This record gives sequence, C-alpha cells and structure tokens, in this order.
Amino acid sequence: MITVEVPAKVNVQLGVGGLRADGFHDLANVFFAVALGDRVTAAPGAGVTLTCAGPDAALVPLDDSNLAARAARLLAAHHGIEPDVRLHIDKAIPVAGGMAGGSADGAAALVACDALWELDTPLETLLELAAELGSDVPFALVGGVALGRGRGEILEGLPVSGTFHWVFAVADGGLSTPAVFRECDRLREEAGTGSTEAEVPTPDADPALLAALADGDPVALAEALANDLQAAALSLRPSLADTLRAGTEAGALAALVSGSGPTCAFLAKDAEAAEAVGRALTESGTCRAAHVTHGPVPGAAISAPRP
Ligand code: ATP
Repeated sequence: MITVEVPAKVNVQLGVGGLRADGFHDLANVFFAVALGDRVTAAPGAGVTLTCAGPDAALVPLDDSNLAARAARLLAAHHGIEPDVRLHIDKAIPVAGGMAGGSADGAAALVACDALWELDTPLETLLELAAELGSDVPFALVGGVALGRGRGEILEGLPVSGTFHWVFAVADGGLSTPAVFRECDRLREEAGTGSTEAEVPTPDADPALLAALADGDPVALAEALANDLQAAALSLRPSLADTLRAGTEAGALAALVSGSGPTCAFLAKDAEAAEAVGRALTESGTCRAAHVTHGPVPGAAISAPRP
C-alpha cells in the first residue's frame, strides 16, 4: 500500500483578469502550500474503487467525477495499462472551501498510483497529466510557493524564507468556484469597469508580495495579501465579513478569503499569535472550525503508512 500526504493551498495573491473567449480568466496566482492536508492511499484492487473518511466525507463524490479516481484512470490510460487500484482519501481539507482539496487528491492519486504500479513517470509528464485534470492540480504536485499563470497551471517556483503561521476558518457549506467567478464578472459589469479580457488589465504578480515572501516577513506579506475574488465571495456569503473581522480583532496581521472561499485565511506574526487567533475564531461562533497551521510545505509526497 502507498500513502501520499498532500497539502491544501491558500492564494496569497489571486489577481483575476477579464473573461476570455474560452470561458476562463487569466490569473496571476501566487499559490502557498500549507500543512493542512489530505492523505491518499492506493492499494492493489480490481478497477478503480474509492472510499473517503473525515468530517466532510459525505460531501465528496465517490463516482468517476472524483479527481482522485480521474487521476488514476488518466495515468493508467497514459501508460496503456488497466487502472486497478483501491483508493482511500483521509480528508482534512474542507470540501468546496477554496483550498483546492479535490485538486490535492488528484495530485496525490497520481503520485500514489505511479508508485503502486511502479511506473516511474517523469515529473514533467505528471505535471502535464495534472494540468489536464484541473488548473490547481499541478501546484499540489510541487507545493512550496509558486506563481501560476494562464488558468493557474503554468507554474514558476518562488523563493521564500522561513515559515509563515496561518489560521483557516472553515465555513458551513461550500461555494462553487465557477459561481464565484461569475459573481466577480457581474460585480465588474455593475461597477462599470467591464469584465472581458479587453476591458480588464492583465494581472501580474505584485513585487512587494514577492519580496515579502523572499524575506520571510509576515508583516510585509500581510500588507500585500490580495484576492480579486474576495468581493464576489463576500457578495455571495455576506456572513464571511463577520469571520474576517473576528480574526483581525483577535490579532491576525491580515485576513482574506482563501481562493474562491468560503474558507477564510488569517496570517499571524508567529505560532503563538496563530494559536490565539485560532482560539478566538473557535469561540466567536462565526465559523464551523478553525485550523492553526503553517507553511510553506512540499507538494504531494509518499509517506510511511499509518500504524
Ligand atoms: P478550488 O479551490 O480548486 O476552487 P475548492 O477547494 O473550492 O476548489 P474542492 O474541495 O476541490 O473545492 O471541491 C469542489 C468540488 O469538486 C466538490 O464540491 C466536489 O463535487 C468535487 N470533487 C471532486 N473530487 C473531489 C475530491 N477528491 N475531494 C473533494 N471534492 C471533490
């Protein structure tokens, strides 16, 4: 049996360009991998079977639409072999929470099946297969901190110093990523700025944010955090404003919606401050759960099986 640990991500910058003719948006996406992750195991089986455990397990589809199952089939098809594997997901990443949990499981399944089937697929090929599965899947393979361009799938690793301390507040219920992008377009139309590729400037990585990461400076990073989807997530889920406020009042350096939400992310100055923010959020009643964690951490990697 092969066990793979895979991180969730927070977008420390999510710049959203205009709507393209193909329905996607150009993104300037700075991904940051955090030590809040899923564990995917792959064991010998007949065909692809899938089980899932964890607080959100009931929300995870167990059919062929699951990204872990799709990853197994895609890898097998690439090598012209039968996709025989029993996959199990231990799910800690909130589902539909804006932390790319499904993408993480897809990346983990690629790595786990590659090892189980002894394929030795080059990383470059795994990255191509990952990009076929979804825009956020390649990042879950590499982890760390990376700039994603295009739909987010063209990755460039970024230099980073030290460890940053985060708290994630999990909301009740998810938000659909496509719905949040549509709301972002709608808000832009309403504001009169337009929402198409021709009307919205192409986003680029913020040099101040890149310097803060390279310097390991949480105060500077807090000032530079930016998410162009935040207004749309707040418009669809106004109660998130209370969650964001509860974290900043508890001493977080900054608060932002993670990706398309509804999970909220809080950057703290150190581990102790993060614990305090986590406790305050739990007590605030503005979220379902608060997770204190850190990053960056590596991408999907094989680990020892659990005893
Ligand atoms: P992103 O941040 O990439 O937009 P997300 O974190 O908001 O994603 P996910 O948890 O990846 O959202 O789930 C989005 C939807 O994907 C779910 O509602 C579910 O129907 C589907 N899905 C497919 N595979 C998985 C999986 N392995 N785990 C969770 N959801 C999955």
